[in-house]
Amino acid sequence: MTVDSAARVAIPFDNTYVQLPERFYARLAPTPVIAPRLVKLNVSLARELGMDPADLTSPEGVAILAGNRVPEGAEPLAQAYAGHQFGNFSPQLGDGRAILLGEVIDKAGVRRDVQLKGSGPTPFSRRGDGRAALGPVLREYIISEAFAALGIPATRSLAAVVTGEPVARETMLPGAVLTRIAGSHIRVGTFQYFAARQDDDALRELVDYVIARHYPQAAQAENKYVALLDAVIAAQARLVAQWMLVGFIHGVMNTDNVSIAGETIDFGPCAFMDHFDPMKIFSSIDQRGRYAFGNQPRIAAWNLARFTETLLTLVAPDKEQAVAIGQAALDRYKPQFDAAYQAGLRAKLGLSTAEEGDVELATDLLAAMAQGGADFTLTFRRLGASAGDPSRDAELRALFMEPSGLDAWLPRWRERLAREAVSNAERKAAMDKVNPGFIPRNHLVEEALSTAEAGDTSAFEMLLSVLARPFDEQPGKERYAQPPRPEEIVHQTFCGT
Ligand code: AMP
Ligand code: MG
Repeated sequence: MTVDSAARVAIPFDNTYVQLPERFYARLAPTPVIAPRLVKLNVSLARELGMDPADLTSPEGVAILAGNRVPEGAEPLAQAYAGHQFGNFSPQLGDGRAILLGEVIDKAGVRRDVQLKGSGPTPFSRRGDGRAALGPVLREYIISEAFAALGIPATRSLAAVVTGEPVARETMLPGAVLTRIAGSHIRVGTFQYFAARQDDDALRELVDYVIARHYPQAAQAENKYVALLDAVIAAQARLVAQWMLVGFIHGVMNTDNVSIAGETIDFGPCAFMDHFDPMKIFSSIDQRGRYAFGNQPRIAAWNLARFTETLLTLVAPDKEQAVAIGQAALDRYKPQFDAAYQAGLRAKLGLSTAEEGDVELATDLLAAMAQGGADFTLTFRRLGASAGDPSRDAELRALFMEPSGLDAWLPRWRERLAREAVSNAERKAAMDKVNPGFIPRNHLVEEALSTAEAGDTSAFEMLLSVLARPFDEQPGKERYAQPPRPEEIVHQTFCGT
């Protein structure tokens, strides 16, 4: 028997979303591109997904990653969803430039979506071209892999290919396709899509699907709709707390960009802060600062309120009763966010026990950082060194343009540390595990993207390798830990759609 050499790439698809009713999606194949070329393959992720990296780098594999060939077992579709964008509801958004090829079960037994982003127009494209530019694709690649190394839930990036076709944005840019891997691509907006159509049957099916896929324990609950609300709220509270603890600004926290699985998703114009500014905004499209750093916890609550609304007709037959139940679930968000955030702050300060004044101690440091113009990431990182060795305080102090706040704070912190029975070495080791030294700083990301756009991916590769070990000391890589020089500061980020 001869084996068709053009069909050797084996991706172990196991698709379930496509079994949902047809109004959940539009079936269509990606639109082929002229001259696909692989820019980056995530070899370890490929293995984790049960795919052979050598397969994916073959011409056949690259054709698949570009959308030029639909692999065996794929059942490509564009998902329908709605969403509140900057507070305004759009009853129909959907995958306008992405196609779900299908799902695979990874080595850990977890079902994951395999999606092409930038793969051509779909029935949901509206006025868009269905394409993505290389810069934003590599940006998503860098940020998603940085998140993975930081241990923060986020979609992953399996591959980036250039298409050989230009895309028209403000200028003509090289086109690219990202292969995105997600726990699922189901969003708050997916629920809103059906709620807006008063399609309770679809909502019920979606709930059962999401519970089976993401929150199986909710199936046992007395009221599975409330159990799902609780699970999604808890996941979102934990996630946003993690963002706040690393200085991450999502940039477009629209309800269509909120993953039901609790992963960071669709972080187009996102950024990590350099100097701490509680109301920092980077996104060029966020003119009113709706999604500023410090607004994120309450925007998440707003988004969860929109999610809750979609389930009210199912939560209880009586409307008033349903609203009361929904409100009670929403009220559980803030305590959970606070608990996760405050536990994280304690760990960042090197505290292994909890005392009354700890939160105030932490917020006073943040205030000193804001007032002193100190770098968020490095302040916490250097605190680890100072914890065991006050002679290192000078390095910490050097981060503050105006150190008076820090000077007043350090003795209070040391007094608090003295009440813990932890050795200095243990404390520093624990702090170094929660305070990264390396984050995807905007100026480094910009440098990697602009050189990659000019055809040289060495800076992109180097940045990825540094960001893969954010908590390690990396001798020789000090440059990647440094904040930007004044002329390197990136003031705005763009989603590039
Ligand atoms: P985003 O801001 O990337 O989360 O996208 C919001 C909506 O716009 C989603 O429905 C996207 O699919 C759609 N969209 C974004 N960019 C494009 C594009 N270039 N072509 C078609 N649809 C797009
Ligand atoms: Mg989106």
